[in-house]
Amino acid sequence: MEAIPHSSAVGSLMCVMRCTRLDIGHAVGVVSRFLANPGKEHCEVVKWILRYLKGTLKMCLCFGGAKPILEEFTDVDMAGDLDGRKSTSGFLFTFAGRAEEYKVHYDSQSAIDLSKNSMYHSRSHQRPTGSLQESDRDELQVRTQLHFFCIVVFVNGKVCNDPKLATADDFFFSGLLTPQNTSNPIGSKVTPVNVIQILGLNTLGISLARIDFAPYGLNPPHTHPRATEVIVVLEGTLYVGFVTSNTDNRLFTKVLYPGDVFVFPQGLIHFQFNNGKTNAVALAALSSQNPGTITVANAVFGSNPRISDDVLAKAFQVDKKVVDYLQAQFWWPSN
Ligand code: MN
Repeated sequence: MEAIPHSSAVGSLMCVMRCTRLDIGHAVGVVSRFLANPGKEHCEVVKWILRYLKGTLKMCLCFGGAKPILEEFTDVDMAGDLDGRKSTSGFLFTFAGRAEEYKVHYDSQSAIDLSKNSMYHSRSHQRPTGSLQESDRDELQVRTQLHFFCIVVFVNGKVCNDPKLATADDFFFSGLLTPQNTSNPIGSKVTPVNVIQILGLNTLGISLARIDFAPYGLNPPHTHPRATEVIVVLEGTLYVGFVTSNTDNRLFTKVLYPGDVFVFPQGLIHFQFNNGKTNAVALAALSSQNPGTITVANAVFGSNPRISDDVLAKAFQVDKKVVDYLQAQFWWPSN
């Protein structure tokens, strides 16, 4: 028996099972219990699995366009292994009908845990459950990050590429050193580099922007609902700041010089103003592939259609004429 690389073969099968062949999960789970002192019959079973893989090499599972619903299935055989008095339990996540993550436990505790949890009271039927255990959510989150290419069908409205069709250009953008035209009413120009420009950023939680400022140019008060922003000044000087949320509404400001870095926490209203007589340039990193931007003045006074001046006059504690004047302005569509 020593000449037979039994445990090595089972290890390879585990790798195959984790990556693309979920269908051998149960069989590999059984043979992996007998690694310490395998007999001839155990090696035979490994050969059966290898033969099965060989015979089904050219077959694949096809998933249709099911609804984008996340479902979890769980089941346990309640001490199904009479030798070890242990249970095999497991869960499977599917998204849009496609298997995304699964796990099989073989121990004496999982079945007890499952039976205690009211979400999993059904003993013998696989059943979808509406909510996931915290640890399962973490597991799914980690696996999602590890997949590198997005594994779900839609994220923030972006369709995922087939990883096999991806090329280096899906992860590439050029020209961020090119100065941009800032001759507009606010004297600034944002050049975003997010999932719109680089499809490969999808699900990766990061993006970039270049911001050009004319002298006295302003990136007006705005917020990113899905990202914290950190900027570094490359050229010129910037007076920057953000305001904390209700009820203290504290203003944090700083004058930044080249090489200085400043952070705008997620969701808070912030601005950058070039208070110098020369152009300024900053690079911003944002903690989302799709940070979103809400420019305060544009959203409040430039909405389409307009917000009732009754509402805005009351909100800003001013006369309706002031609101009408503001609403009549052209609000430059800054980024
Ligand atoms: Mn910003």
